[in-house]
Amino acid sequence: MHPGRREDACIQPGIPMARPTQILIRRCLLVLLLVLALAACAVSADGPAGGPAYVLGGTPTDETTPMRSCDPAVLATLEQIEIPAPVEGWSGTPQAVSVFNVFAGEVMIGLGDRVVCGRMHDARTRDPRFRASVGLVVVPEAGSREPVRVGWRTPLKAHWIPGIRIGAPSAIQQEDTLRLVVRTSCLAIALALAFSALMGFVGARDRTFLGHVGMCVTLLLWQATLGGLSGFPQPWLPIGEQESHWQVALAALSFAAIAYGISAQTGIAGQRPRLRRATRWAIRVLIALGLLAPLVPVSALTALWWIADRIFLLTVIGLSLLACLSIRRSDRRAVAALAASLPFLLLAVPIINSSPTVAAYRIEIVQLVLTWFLVVMAYTLTTRYGQLRAQRDAMRQLADTDPLTGLPNRRAGLVRLDEAFAVARRHGIPLSVGFVDVDLFKRINDVHGHDVGDRVLITVADALVAVTRNADEVMRMGGEEFLVLLPGLAGAAAHARLETIRRRIGELAPMLDVPGLHFTASIGLASLTAADESPAALLRRADDAMYRAKHAGRDQVVGDGSWPAASSG
Ligand code: GH3
Ligand code: MG
Ligand code: MG
Repeated sequence: MHPGRREDACIQPGIPMARPTQILIRRCLLVLLLVLALAACAVSADGPAGGPAYVLGGTPTDETTPMRSCDPAVLATLEQIEIPAPVEGWSGTPQAVSVFNVFAGEVMIGLGDRVVCGRMHDARTRDPRFRASVGLVVVPEAGSREPVRVGWRTPLKAHWIPGIRIGAPSAIQQEDTLRLVVRTSCLAIALALAFSALMGFVGARDRTFLGHVGMCVTLLLWQATLGGLSGFPQPWLPIGEQESHWQVALAALSFAAIAYGISAQTGIAGQRPRLRRATRWAIRVLIALGLLAPLVPVSALTALWWIADRIFLLTVIGLSLLACLSIRRSDRRAVAALAASLPFLLLAVPIINSSPTVAAYRIEIVQLVLTWFLVVMAYTLTTRYGQLRAQRDAMRQLADTDPLTGLPNRRAGLVRLDEAFAVARRHGIPLSVGFVDVDLFKRINDVHGHDVGDRVLITVADALVAVTRNADEVMRMGGEEFLVLLPGLAGAAAHARLETIRRRIGELAPMLDVPGLHFTASIGLASLTAADESPAALLRRADDAMYRAKHAGRDQVVGDGSWPAASSG
């Protein structure tokens, strides 16, 4: 197939690649699969030996609860409240107590002398009927007025207070399950996006994809420590008793990753060198704070987190302002930067931040915001993938195209010859090649100048493309030499086609309107035979035939003698 226009003359069939929407659909399917798999794991995970795997809406008794004695020294350090019994006393029905949004430290739930202690991340110490909180199902004696006692370690951030639910086990366990589903789904999405970006890196070898992987992993680990999922279904992050240190360290590193994502991944900061430098410094400081966090005492963590918070907020505000300014210039990067940063800014607004709904679902909201951010970043990555592909196609076209005539150059021509040779051999179809050389071209240059010489070459190239069939291919082999591939033609038929080309070239000169200009071409023809071992052999025979045409007086088609009817021009 030869190209119709010079501009797209040598587009090589590229590696088939999916369009951004297809990539997005595939990613969504991957995420869905992972979510389903995780949900299946959550449902099928076994509880302690002998105990029920999962109870929803049943009437469990406290015999199934793994009791654990609490360290009195630790108990003394906990903030405690008592939840009074109803005025008429407990009814005697089971009561579920669930303590959630405790980010670190021991949690205590007690009724009388029945006391459970556990940590959010230590799934094994919790009642297996609760997965996203520290919970306990108790059956208070009917008429008893004993209060339920709950204790927790003072949170690092004053407003990151724990939540407590008490009531019928079924409803409370359902809420607990909902929390778990949201939390695990967010982790699954981060994991899926990390894998997707890793595959992107393998395919494109672009460092931005690795940056995205790092971002996904950092945010995934932070979410896992915030939601206690570092210990679900079994502890998989070696946090030990250091939850606070991990949370602050990962928070600072996550802030750095987010700032990097908004500034570099969207490319918004590239527009203002000063802001880009400031963002880079902010990222460095955040990373330093993250690395410092494991080394400082718990008492210093609140201050460290506060500093990281403020630096992060200032950076996001700066980048958002820049995005707002750029949006007026309808910059798509600005839209992405704004979409990524807006939820973080909203979450920092005091009225929103202190609302009871945000307080009750703080971990889930933070996780959803982080997930939204990662999805926006994945979108920018997909756009970048498209740009890289377009760049690669453009570079390939440049490398394969002869700039003067727009035809495939020698490199691309030899590749096409190899392909045509292989196809002809495989399917047993004929193949002929014509080696076209403009006669006495040097003289045209000498007499009329190089400009005219160039115009002659362009005119000949256009004529070759115009005269040949769609199935034929034309390339410039160098200088004033062209190659014509004629798949499906051999012998006399190929000779007749090249004869048409030769005649057409001889008629071109008047079109250039150069007084005294006349030019012709000599053409060597070779048709594929069983003896041809390689495309080079076929090409060599065509070249030899072309030289024979020159010696025989030029302006003629000479065959390679491989068929009786066309052994001469
Ligand atoms: P013959 O009939 O034997 O083929 O003689 P010729 O003059 O056509 O062949 P020769 O190989 O002696 O000269 C080819 C010339 O083509 C020499 C070179 O300067 C010129 N040439 C090669 N590439 C270009 C080009 O891109 N533009 C122009 N104007 N001339 C070119
Ligand atoms: Mg030549
Ligand atoms: Mg020549």
